[in-house]
Amino acid sequence: MERGLLLDRDGVINVDYDYVHTIDKFDFMPHLFPALRRAQDLGYRLAIVTNQAGIARGYYTEDQFWHLTRWMLGRLAAEGVQIGAVLCCPHHAEKSIHPRYGHDSFWRKPNPGMMLEAAARLQLDLPRSLLVGDRVTDLQAARAAGIGTTVFLNETAPKPAVADYQVTGWDQIIKLLG
Ligand SMILES: [Mg+2]
Repeated sequence: MERGLLLDRDGVINVDYDYVHTIDKFDFMPHLFPALRRAQDLGYRLAIVTNQAGIARGYYTEDQFWHLTRWMLGRLAAEGVQIGAVLCCPHHAEKSIHPRYGHDSFWRKPNPGMMLEAAARLQLDLPRSLLVGDRVTDLQAARAAGIGTTVFLNETAPKPAVADYQVTGWDQIIKLLG
């Protein structure tokens, strides 16, 4: 069983400009690549777990999401970073314009479903794993899944009780990985 580094996407992998779904709006966060390479060197397996209610809202499709994801994974691979799993939840209980997405889901954070699925696929030891998120719901999902350490990547919000650490950038996360 390996340690996992579970990552939200928007605001963690890329700058959150709200409902990012095109390559031209996808800006990787500063210091991300060396931090993820360091995590790999330390034995962490990487996974992305992302709510994408923009799909339920009709802003973009699942196909567009996965097209962007393939590009993102290619860019990360070119930087020496291998992502073991990408889990996406397209649902939204109230705002969906598609009946098939118009209910809550065990995968939608703050529910733990995506993190449990990532753990099953990658054989992760969740108590020894770490979650990086920029919203409280990311950290709540991590707690519900049994992830041992939660990191709140947020420059402006006060530190929530559910966060073990708060940081303002990936350069600070490197120090928490050991
Ligand atoms: Mg986010």
